[in-house]
Amino acid sequence: MDCIFCKIAAGEIPSVRVYEDDRVLAFMDINPLSEGHLLIIPKAHAATIYEITEDDFLAVMSATHKLAAAVKKALNPDGINLLQLNGRAANQVVPHLHVHIVPRWSGDGLTISQWDMVAGDMENIKVVAEKIQGEIAS
Ligand code: 5GP
Ligand code: ZN
Repeated sequence: MDCIFCKIAAGEIPSVRVYEDDRVLAFMDINPLSEGHLLIIPKAHAATIYEITEDDFLAVMSATHKLAAAVKKALNPDGINLLQLNGRAANQVVPHLHVHIVPRWSGDGLTISQWDMVAGDMENIKVVAEKIQGEIAS
């Protein structure tokens, strides 16, 4: 498969690895938004949250939990953003699921997670909530 992150997982493209187990690989982002910016991927290809198995997703999240603690100890950031983008509309560029860990420092000027608070229409919010509730798999 012509997937850059599959090639990284297979060792066909070099990367700076920080963690690995049988399901998951974590490596440094080559275009870091901040010092310590890293990516956690499943070794098995899955483009987005819709394709990944629940077990692989849990393994990615478990590694994310471990790595966030390691980043905190190593770099002592003031905060950490976790980002996981799905689909072009969400600005996903590499179609192999990944979680970003982006360490943050007060006043670093990054605009991740900044948005304007605009009150929603409560009636519409309730209608949409019911639609979602009706589709939750048991
Ligand atoms: P997203 O798909 O969530 O928008 O982000 C893809 C991320 O992968 C970007 O932050 C980009 O810098 C990173 N990236 C793309 N190609 C490579 C690569 O070949 N090696 C590494 N280490 N990171 C990459
Ligand atoms: Zn892949």
